[in-house]
Amino acid sequence: MAKRHLTRRQNWRIEKIQDERSVRAARRADMAEESLLGGDLGSEQEGLVIAHFGVQVDVEATSGPQAGLVRRCNRRANLPALVTGDKVVWRADNQNGGVIVAQLPRRTELFRPDHRGQLKPVAANIDRLIIVFAPLPTPHSNLIDRYLVAAEQAGLEPLLVLNKADLLDQADFASLRGWLDDYAKLGYRTLCLSADSGDGLNALRQELQDHINVFVGQSGVGKSSLINVLLPGEDLRVGPLSDATNKGMHTTTTAKLFHFPEGGDLVDSPGIREFGLTHITHDELLEGFIEFRPFLGHCKFRDCQHLHEPGCALLAAVERGDISATRMRSYRYILSGITKP
Ligand code: GDP
Ligand code: ZN
Repeated sequence: MAKRHLTRRQNWRIEKIQDERSVRAARRADMAEESLLGGDLGSEQEGLVIAHFGVQVDVEATSGPQAGLVRRCNRRANLPALVTGDKVVWRADNQNGGVIVAQLPRRTELFRPDHRGQLKPVAANIDRLIIVFAPLPTPHSNLIDRYLVAAEQAGLEPLLVLNKADLLDQADFASLRGWLDDYAKLGYRTLCLSADSGDGLNALRQELQDHINVFVGQSGVGKSSLINVLLPGEDLRVGPLSDATNKGMHTTTTAKLFHFPEGGDLVDSPGIREFGLTHITHDELLEGFIEFRPFLGHCKFRDCQHLHEPGCALLAAVERGDISATRMRSYRYILSGITKP
């Protein structure tokens, strides 16, 4: 039997029927959702996810007459999991809740490994990484460099904050200012301040404005102290306390978004503070050392590891003093810990 060809018109009719079917199905799903929620969904508006609790998220209205209002929302089944910092389109219901109907594109994503070692996004749209260090606990340049590489990899602008400046007069710590200056010379933003004395805090407040910020750094450098000063009244809701005390309650340890009174936002959770280098390739590591970039691709050997090869452009730059020996050591140290691609 001859193969039956559908005419263009028949094809068009079939497509049209299928389209109509899917529109009807979508409408039925919407209506089921509306009746489930008690009907009467408000109009679509933009919002910001400021916390999440399992399948539900807290959405803050960011536009319209309800701006600033927070509602516990469900999301439509066809949407991916949302994280704190996500921008969404949502509709209020008539029971103090709402439903999220769309997720807006993310500018950045912060990932952390879950208990199975799989990387999962934990926060979206963060653009600032505040890397805190202090005279005590004694900092390792290697750790700062790891944070800087992680910031480059995630597309976040880093800000280096040397806290506990009140201790810098002690002879042991005098060299730290020079250290901070070395990073400033590389082009990084830096601040020297003290959560205790309050010195330099206004400069920090300014840096936080117009950004969604995350604080990272070794335990004991003063992150909680800084956040408590910057977010007066919120101290019960930040810091490691939430880990132990909130078990079993519905507040979990996931990230929350806070507004600083002078502008700018903070995303914080015990897990977020541990943000660091996860999986990274050799190339990403090299790119993460910003002063290496002009020399990349100029080595004699294409697969140069920049360790001891002849004709290495990076080693020559170290010889000339264009790259500091400390940063080179740090690069090698991190390289030794990553699996090469
Ligand atoms: P976190 O682990 O990074 O959150 O650090 P904390 O905020 O818990 O601070 C650790 C310790 O450093 C506490 O004993 C604070 O009182 C102290 N600390 C925080 N900021 C300063 C500061 O500016 N100067 C001095 N001298 N101590 C500070
Ligand atoms: Zn090389």
